[in-house]
Amino acid sequence: MQARYPPKAMDATPEITRFAPSPTGFLHLGHARAALFAWRRARATAGRFLLRIEDIDTTRCRPEYEAAIFEDLRWLGLDWDGTERRQSAHFAEYRAVLDGLAARGLVYPCFCTRADIAREVAAAGAAPQGPDGPLYPGICRDLPQAEAARRIAGGEAYALRLHMQRACEAVPGPLMAHEEAEGWHECRPDVFGDVVLGRKDVPASYHLCVTHDDALQGITLVTRGEDLKPATALHRLIQALMGWPAPRYAHHALMRDATGRRLAKRDGAESLRALREKGFSAEQVWALVEAG
Ligand code: GLU
Repeated sequence: MQARYPPKAMDATPEITRFAPSPTGFLHLGHARAALFAWRRARATAGRFLLRIEDIDTTRCRPEYEAAIFEDLRWLGLDWDGTERRQSAHFAEYRAVLDGLAARGLVYPCFCTRADIAREVAAAGAAPQGPDGPLYPGICRDLPQAEAARRIAGGEAYALRLHMQRACEAVPGPLMAHEEAEGWHECRPDVFGDVVLGRKDVPASYHLCVTHDDALQGITLVTRGEDLKPATALHRLIQALMGWPAPRYAHHALMRDATGRRLAKRDGAESLRALREKGFSAEQVWALVEAG
C-alpha cells in the first residue's frame, strides 16, 4: 500500500476532506471510490482526512454496520485523522441551529403527513418538481402561530421546513458555489422549495447536519458522488444564512455496474467484505474503483 501513497505536494494548500457514510448497510465499491477520492486529496496536500458517521436515521443505522465501516477502511489502507464524529451524539447542536433559524422566522412547523402532501399535489393537478421530488405545496407555511403552538402543545408530530422565499431574501446578492471542474458559478437553491431541515423523528436532517458538520470540522474541500451535486445550491444557502464558510466542492462520477446502473446498497451491490471473502486484495479493489 505504501507505494500507492500519492507524492506529497507541499506547495498545495492542505485540504481538509471527509468521508461521510451512513451505517445502513455494508460499504460497497461506490463507497470505496468516495473514500479513496477524499483520502487522496487530503494526503496529496498534507492535509487531513476525517471520518464522519452520518447516523441520524436511528431506525435504519446499526452499530454492526458502523464497526464494519472502520474495518473496511482499515483493510483498504485508508487511515483517518482524529476521532470519527458520530452525528447521533450531537442532536443538541442541530437543534440549536434550528432554534436560531426559527427565531429568525426562517423555518416553520409542518404537520403534514406524506398523504396530506400527495392529496394536495393531486388536487392542484401537478406540483413543480425539485431535485428531491415534488415541491412542498405550502399547506402549513402560513398557519397562524397560535394554531401551530396549540398543535405542538397537543403533541402533534411536526417537521421544520425552510421558508425558502424568506431564506433567499435573507441572503442578498448572487449565491456562488465553487465546483472544481467549473470554478465559481451562481446557484439557485429556490428550486428545492420549502425543504425539511428538522425531521419529525429527529431534530435534524441530512442537509442541516452535513452543512453544520462541514463548517464545524473546517472542511475545505467537500468531495462526494455526483448524485449529490444538485444539493450544493441548498447547502450554500444554509451556509450563507448561518455565516458558515463556503467550502469548495468536487463531485466525482458514481460507480456503475455492467449495465450502467449506479451501485446501491438497496439493490444488493456487492459489499467490500464480500469481495474480500472472495479473495480480492485491497489493491485489486483500488484498481476496480479507479477503473470503473
Ligand atoms: N452520508 C451521505 C451518503 O452516505 C454522504 C453525504 C456527503 O458526502 O455529503 O451518501
